[in-house]
Amino acid sequence: MLTGIHFLLTYKCAFACNHCFVFSSPSAEGTFTLAQVRQVLEQARTLGTVKMIYFEGGEAFLFYPLMLESIRRARALGFEVGIVTNAYFATTEEDAALWLQPLAEIGIADLSVSDDAFHFDDQDNPAKRARRAAQKLGLPVGSICIEPPTVATNTQRKKGEPVVGGGVMFRGRAVEKLITGLPRVAWEEFVECPHEELGNPDRVHLDAYGNVHLCQGLSMGNAWQTPLSTLVTQYRASAHPIVAPLLNGGPAQLVRAFDVPHENAYVDACHLCYRARQALLDRFPEYLAPRQVYGVA
Ligand code: SF4
Repeated sequence: MLTGIHFLLTYKCAFACNHCFVFSSPSAEGTFTLAQVRQVLEQARTLGTVKMIYFEGGEAFLFYPLMLESIRRARALGFEVGIVTNAYFATTEEDAALWLQPLAEIGIADLSVSDDAFHFDDQDNPAKRARRAAQKLGLPVGSICIEPPTVATNTQRKKGEPVVGGGVMFRGRAVEKLITGLPRVAWEEFVECPHEELGNPDRVHLDAYGNVHLCQGLSMGNAWQTPLSTLVTQYRASAHPIVAPLLNGGPAQLVRAFDVPHENAYVDACHLCYRARQALLDRFPEYLAPRQVYGVA
């Protein structure tokens, strides 16, 4: 049952982090209009099961007036609201409060601030300043910290588990930038999707192109062509050409199902899944979109 909708309000970001799985950057295209936000919120209300709306990106604060108005409309429709940000705007704690005060007035349920070595390397960084300002304003604030990949020393590794720890998801730019030298596991071991509820998703991400992401770049369908409420209620995982093999035997089955050329070993299940989907982009443009999250123009 779908309870959460996450707006990828924009793919644009002030940064171009190596671990970013949607290839965000200052030059990335794809930003919602207010009319599109309204349309999705109405559809979310029609569904009747959605409780939580997140605004993330990219970096949602880059389109601050749009973000604020979208939050206001979501709250007016009775949804709880969360925001994910890298807090690039927090030049000082006092200045951060200028950006965050309106959120305290509207009332949000979560502010998640990315604070890790991929975003900032100094001690008193924008994320920490924003968190202090948020706490003073009484906002519910937490941090997201992704550690760079480490080689795990777990000798009890189960079949299909990676040898790499740290929290990076090997999709998108992470595959292009962070893979070199990491230990790999035989491709046949990746027999399930370890992270997403592909059969019965409880949340989806929507982008400005209308893609309804089950995982980044893996779309249920297009909300500008078919209303979101119809897409969700008519979704059958067993009829989805990419999801069905993933549920039947993970990324390894996806490779087998379409005879995708592959290497002998991959860092984790997402690495194999991402590479297989990249190879299938031209065959399933409706379900593997947008191309930009695969690093393809
Ligand atoms: S990349 Fe593939 S295996 Fe990884 S979470 Fe997404 S759908 Fe699952």
